[in-house]
Order: sequence, then C-alpha cells, then structure tokens
Amino acid sequence: MVNTIIEPFKIKSVEPINFTTREYRERALREAFYNLFLLRADDVLIDLLTDSGTAAMSSKQWAAIMDGDESYAGSRSFFRFEEVIKDLTGFRHVIPTHQGRAAEKILFTVVGGPGRVIPNNTHFDTTRANVEFSGAQAVDLPVPVALETSRRADFKGNMDLGELETLITKTGRGNIPLCFLTVTNNSVGGQPVSMKNIRETKALLDKYGIPLFIDACRFAENAFFIKLREPGYKDRSIRDIAREMFSYADGCTMSAKKDALVNIGGFLALNDSSLAEKARSLLIMTEGFPTYGGLAGRDLDAIAQGLSEVLDEDYLKYRIRSVEYFGDKLEQAGVPVLVPTGGHAVFLDAGRFLPEVPPELFPGQSLSVQLYLEGGIRSVEIGSVMFGKQVDGRFVGAKLELVRLAIPRRVYTQSHIDYSAEVVIEVFRKRNSIPGYRITYEPPYLRHFTAHFEPVPIGSRR
Ligand SMILES: *Cc1c(COP(=O)(O)O)cnc(C)c1O
Repeated sequence: MVNTIIEPFKIKSVEPINFTTREYRERALREAFYNLFLLRADDVLIDLLTDSGTAAMSSKQWAAIMDGDESYAGSRSFFRFEEVIKDLTGFRHVIPTHQGRAAEKILFTVVGGPGRVIPNNTHFDTTRANVEFSGAQAVDLPVPVALETSRRADFKGNMDLGELETLITKTGRGNIPLCFLTVTNNSVGGQPVSMKNIRETKALLDKYGIPLFIDACRFAENAFFIKLREPGYKDRSIRDIAREMFSYADGCTMSAKKDALVNIGGFLALNDSSLAEKARSLLIMTEGFPTYGGLAGRDLDAIAQGLSEVLDEDYLKYRIRSVEYFGDKLEQAGVPVLVPTGGHAVFLDAGRFLPEVPPELFPGQSLSVQLYLEGGIRSVEIGSVMFGKQVDGRFVGAKLELVRLAIPRRVYTQSHIDYSAEVVIEVFRKRNSIPGYRITYEPPYLRHFTAHFEPVPIGSRR
C-alpha cells in the first residue's frame, strides 16, 4: 500500500546551507554569549529557531510580488489584501501592519492601560509584553491538561472557561476591554483550540458584554486540527472551518509571517468602527498610511496569495504530518517530548530531559545550546529564560521548561528532519554531561532575545 505523505511541491530555487566543525561551533557559541539569537545565521545548519517569517514562498507568490502596486495611497495591492482578509474573516475593518506585534502594540495602546486586565488562553511573549507595556495585566488561562506534557489530549490549547468566569467576576467586566484566544496556542506547544471552546468562550463573554479577539497567527493549522479531531468537521472545507472560527470573534491580530506564508507582514482586523478609527490614527504615526501600514505593496499581494495557499488541504496534511513525524521519531527513541505534537513545532521537555539541571540554571537553555554544538541545529528555549523572574529577590521559574524546534513552512525536506532527529537523540544519549547556564547580562524586557550567559558545570554525575 502506498501511504507516504509527500511534500506537495517541487523545488525551483535552492539556497545552500553551511556545514561547520564542532570546534567552530564552540567558538561561535562563546562569541554569541551562549545565546542562540546572537549567532550568525550562516553558522547554523538547520535553523529551527522559529517558523516566523521563514517560509518558502511559492512561484505564484513571487509572481504576485512582481504585480505589486507601490502607490502610496489606494494601492491596488491593498484592495486585493483587504478583499482576501474580509472574505476569510468577515471583519469590517482591515488594517495592515509590518508584523503581528505592531498590530498588538496599536490595539493595546487603545484598549490597555493601568487597571485593565487581558485574559488569553496563553499570551505569546510579544503579546504579553505589549499588554504589560501599556500598564495592563496579562492573564493566562490555559486548561490544566496543557501543563501535562506527557498526557495526550485533542485540544490542549483550550481556554479554561471556569477560570475565565472567575476572573471576570473578580475583576469586573468594566476592567476587561477584550479577551484573547490564541490559535493554535503557541506557548503551550502549538496545541489547537476546539471550535466548541471558541464558541463557548464567545457565549460566556457575551453574557458580560466583553469582545473576543483571536490571535490568528496559525488559524489554518488550527482549522486543520479541528477537521481531523472534532466531531462534525471532517467533511467541511478548511476555509469553511476558518470562517466559522472567525465568526465567533469581534476582531483578530495576525502575524502574516506564520500562516500567510510570507517573510514579513501582519494585520489587525475588527468590526468596531470607533476602535478601528483610533487604531488607524496610531497606525499613521508609527506604521504608515492605512493602505500600506508599514509594508510594501508587493508584500500585501504576497500575503493575499499566501492566505489562499495555506487553506489547501494537501499543504496542511503535509505540514501537520511532517511535524508529527519528527515528534514520533523522538518519542520512539524515549526522548521526552510534549505530546501530542503541535502544529508548527516539536517541543522537548527540558525539565524531564535534564532533570539534574535546576530551573535557575535554565535546563532549556542548556539543551538548546547543546543541540547547536552537537549538530548545528538552532532551536529556542521556552522556559525560565523567557518567563522566569525574580520576585522579592527569589527566583520564580516558568511553569514548563521547553525547547522548541519550530519547522519553517515548505523549507526543509524529510532528510533534514531525519538528521535533526538523530542529533536530538545523540544529545539525549549524552545528557549526563551537559552544563547549566547563568545569566551575565539581561535587558528589562524580552530578555531571551539579547541576554548573555555562561556555562555552570553540574557537579560530578553518573
Ligand atoms: C509570532 C506571534 C506573534 C507576533 O507576531 P510577529 O509577527 O512576530 O510580531 C503573536 N502571537 C503569536 C501566537 C505568535 O506566534
């Protein structure tokens, strides 16, 4: 029987990747202060740092780029962009931004501020930073199973509705300008949110008159999981499922660098006209005129084309299966991975992978540095470097110590994935000789991007 799911494309243009020696990587790490964000990308063999802005565009997207209209105002590219997004989401106002966080910054500047509270199934790091920078409080309300990395469940990305209602009653609905749902839920492992949960979140918020916004970065991957896993959706098209998801919301923020299959771009879309007007005024100050918003006309065209390609089921089937294939290989070798595999990445549970490295010595950082050293693979720590903090001089760690291996869209082939799995398994075999890390420099916000580290040996072990 023929059942291998293959890449639904052939390759027209290639980009060489660079092989380096272990000694070279040791030096590169020292020079980057053991922060993988500070490496030169040319020194990375397989770059799984992020799936953001790293997609390979299609020949049709490149053609759309040539057809972009660079008029300052009223560009034809904007009208194509707007039409595709209105058709997909049903929202009345579409505001282009140069990426997702710019949409967040504008939205929270308008609705945030001291005393305000923003609930979310889990805030992405830039979303949390933008909420907090406005003076508001960002509250994560994932379902409890989201924190159990070894327990399988279909929709671990869901919002905890009981906790949401408790928060609303405690805070008072007047202090909650809107509620967010992140699909898929990136920070708990790219886990999907069910249609039932979206519908019930909306119903609960309606009771209190609070609008619902979707952080829509991976809406198509979420829609595909709904089709696969939720009763009643197996015969529905992805477009139809995505439309239903958006139909329960009053607006969305989107990083086009994810499911719009482009290298830069984003948007804010919403129904409320007075909110839209305030957002457009801020947009003009920081991003640009409302028909380009910090992007070139050609970028808007590439996004419009990408948003239709991402709904292709052959693409989504390949996408979700190739990530799952990577996760399955690691799981079969006994490597502690978060299960089930999410939509855009495999997450290693560094807490279980390196139990002897305490959270204050950042096991996720240790593991991600080691993967680079062993095989030139770049991953990202999503643990106490990203979310840990000092409270009254005491270290408070993240809920989970994870390392994310994010898979760029349409970029790597099965042999790249096989190689990456072998590197992870090799590091797992040698896990007893891996040091912890200590921070030697950190900035006040989003420290993971620029912090400096140094290794700390973990005593003598087995
Ligand atoms: C990437 C991302 C963002 C921010 O988008 P950028 O384009 O990187 O600014 C927001 N939310 C989620 C869930 C994301 O994955």
